[in-house]
Amino acid sequence: MTVKAYAAQAADQPLGPHAIERRAAGPDDVVIAIEYCGVCHSDLHTVRGEWGGTLFPCVPGHEIVGTVSAVGSAVTRFAPGDTVGVGCIVDSCRTCAACGEGLEQFCASGMTGTYNSRTPDAPGHTLGGYSEQIVVDQAYVLAIRHPKDQLAAVAPLLCAGITTWSPLRHWGAGPGKRVGVVGIGGLGHMGIKLARALGAEVTGFTTSPAKREAILALGAHHVVVSTDKAEMKAARESFGLIINTVSHSHDLDPFLMALARDGTMVMVGGPEKPHPMPTLFHMLTRRRSLAGSLIGGIAETQEMLDFCAEHGVVSDIELIRMEEIEAAYARMLQGDVRYRFVIDTGTI
Ligand code: NAP
Ligand code: ZN
Ligand code: ZN
Repeated sequence: MTVKAYAAQAADQPLGPHAIERRAAGPDDVVIAIEYCGVCHSDLHTVRGEWGGTLFPCVPGHEIVGTVSAVGSAVTRFAPGDTVGVGCIVDSCRTCAACGEGLEQFCASGMTGTYNSRTPDAPGHTLGGYSEQIVVDQAYVLAIRHPKDQLAAVAPLLCAGITTWSPLRHWGAGPGKRVGVVGIGGLGHMGIKLARALGAEVTGFTTSPAKREAILALGAHHVVVSTDKAEMKAARESFGLIINTVSHSHDLDPFLMALARDGTMVMVGGPEKPHPMPTLFHMLTRRRSLAGSLIGGIAETQEMLDFCAEHGVVSDIELIRMEEIEAAYARMLQGDVRYRFVIDTGTI
């Protein structure tokens, strides 16, 4: 079927209207009428070719919420009318050790991303959620249990939520743990909300002093302005876990020094240029670790969505019309979004 979408035709071209083909539903497929799609900084890195390897035309978007409009003959988990989500993964090999453990993001054959991954479907690569409809195998579709009036604010959970939830869980965020979150944008603001909901003592690190009160309102117990040397000095040797979501290359040393003995800083940002090499002595002298994390698996995403529904956690969003996307990207690049743009895909 032909579906309206927004695509970039090249890395130096703005997004614009573009018709795409979605495959006919196979036995295991769920056809989803998309209602909302969050705008992740990864969308921007990809359409602008900042990571290399972008396949054009590129339809980004991997924070998708919508309603099931049809299901294939073998679909048992969903029915027309159900509210569902799709995150960053639409397929994987299902047989490797990682897939067997529910870690599809680390599939040995490479996961199929919701956009910019090779697929047999036209045009040869996957096309994401800046579109009216998507067709996804039921094994990669998530159930959404939040109230209907919160759905726009649920969309960012599908990437920003799971990308912070997964390391918070893996590294044991909870009561008695001091957790820092660096960069309070889409991912960072979810990191604060989720760490707080898990019972940790939470500090937001920001380069934007104007966000201080707002970060406390998100649930942080403390805010540190990371460009203020005195504040960073006072924060030294404090944290068991730091989640670093910054989208740009920056000096990691001040954040490593903020870790307590045996603390870990988990990098989730994907900057265009590598970070300067950190000073390894800061790691040696306190047995500190530097780690990385990539989104989260399907079962873990469902666990996060259910936790958020139960605890009333959603994203703080600015709802935009599709044609406002380039202005939204420009504002995102300036750190000027509180805290996630979400596209009303009815405006495509
Ligand atoms: P975002 O909304 O643009 O937030 C990034 C935040 O980083 C900004 O709001 C800003 O926060 C801070 N920042 C930006 N430039 C900075 C600079 N030069 N120095 C210091 N701080 C800076 O982006 P996002 O959607 O949260 O994504 C963040 C990064 O994670 C992106 O690189 C994205 O591609 C990546 N990502 C990774 C995964 C994964 O699985 N690992 C998943 C999704 C996204 P303050 O104003 O508070 O300083
Ligand atoms: Zn994302
Ligand atoms: Zn696999």
